[in-house]
Amino acid sequence: MRYADLHCDALWRASLHPEEFSRLESEPFSGFDGRIQAFALFLSEDADGNALFDAQLALFHRWLDEGNLTLWDEKNGKYNKTAAFLTIENAGKLSHDRWNAEFLWKHGIRFASLTWNGENPLAGGCETGGPIREAGFHFVKAMREAGTIPDVSHLSEKGFYQLADAYDGVFVATHSNAASVLPHKRNLSDDQLKILFARGGLVGLNLHAPFVSEKTPCSRKESIEALNRHLKHLLDLGGAEHLALGCDYDGGTPLFGLSGVKDLAIYYDDVLKYFGTAVADRLFYDNVSEFLSRRF
Ligand SMILES: [Zn+2]
Repeated sequence: MRYADLHCDALWRASLHPEEFSRLESEPFSGFDGRIQAFALFLSEDADGNALFDAQLALFHRWLDEGNLTLWDEKNGKYNKTAAFLTIENAGKLSHDRWNAEFLWKHGIRFASLTWNGENPLAGGCETGGPIREAGFHFVKAMREAGTIPDVSHLSEKGFYQLADAYDGVFVATHSNAASVLPHKRNLSDDQLKILFARGGLVGLNLHAPFVSEKTPCSRKESIEALNRHLKHLLDLGGAEHLALGCDYDGGTPLFGLSGVKDLAIYYDDVLKYFGTAVADRLFYDNVSEFLSRRF
């Protein structure tokens, strides 16, 4: 099997705790015929954004140099290395001289979110609800010039609709679920999901337990049932060609029985059982692979 994941915080975690970090080694490639991983440069709200960006970027290049990863291009996902690409989470933490197309292009940033959960000079996040600000609209323009796609996963609802009005391109939600199934500020309403699908975007199914179900699953069966509710809803809304994984590993609280990449092969079998091969393949790999090939 193959899998593609739109969000992990491995770089952030490894930059803070290099001594305990062994994900790339402890979760070997074996068992997968292809693997695409988006690595978020996560700029936490209390941090010096530029310094944290630089540290994670350096680490990413070290992993590339050490041969654990290879940069994504159309063919790499089929070979026995992780085909990787970079995203930014919370671009408002960068200094303003980095909010431009040259910076995004130079570092190969494929997706970028303006915010995390709170306010910053670009926009407001889902917890605080503020709008996209003037600088935020300039940054969206810079993203377009650089070919970087806006990621709405942490954006406020108000910001989402401002973006949809001001920008006619595709956008993604790298790690968010359906609010109709679990009303959480980090999840997207049916209306938001339909807009995202209509634009040709992707939504990454998030495995962080609080975004999946109100009652934390205590068994693997409960985890799968809770995820099935989100998947079924996304499919009912017409999302078959827009589903992806957005596992949120290394930054969130994984669901029971789905604690890391090693569990994804079994999860594939669950999706296969409930939804069939076409949906399983779309969710796990094909939609992301096709999206990347079309856009980059
Ligand atoms: Zn996040």
